[in-house]
Amino acid sequence: MRPHDPPLVLEGRVAKGFGRGGKLLNCPTANLRDEDVGDQLDPHETGVYFGWIELNGNIYKMATSIGWNPFFKNDKKTVEAHILHEFDADFYGERVKMVLCGYIRPELDFPTMESLIEAIENDKVVSNLALDLPKYDHFKSYLK
Ligand code: ADP
Ligand code: MG
Repeated sequence: MRPHDPPLVLEGRVAKGFGRGGKLLNCPTANLRDEDVGDQLDPHETGVYFGWIELNGNIYKMATSIGWNPFFKNDKKTVEAHILHEFDADFYGERVKMVLCGYIRPELDFPTMESLIEAIENDKVVSNLALDLPKYDHFKSYLK
């Protein structure tokens, strides 16, 4: 993602993932179904991004990871979005649409669970602050 490229917009239904880590790391992530993602992630770097996501008519801030799906022996990228909002219930199967606004960091091999959790908490802070900047407002128009 370079500053003047058109932003990456992804749309699809929320799939069940491996259930690994999300709630354990205090960071549930809504995974997009593989069939909705297809090869759209191929040109995009893996790592953590920030952006906006639409769910049930509301637009929320999100921190999103593009990574390698171990199930596909590292040849298939997947996308999962942590929404900066507290939900009362899960929303598997719902339709979401997201737009990625900026890149935060690459995927890193953290030495400890604590350092991973710290990095994730930092990703949330960065996403929250960045998306308050007026320059990222217009990205919401991609969700219409
Ligand atoms: P999975 O491996 O199935 O994706 P997670 O532990 O990552 O499991 O949990 C993801 C699910 O949690 C989402 O699909 C969604 O239904 C629910 N969820 C609840 N709150 C959030 C949130 N703030 N952001 C993303 N997903 C959330
Ligand atoms: Mg998940």
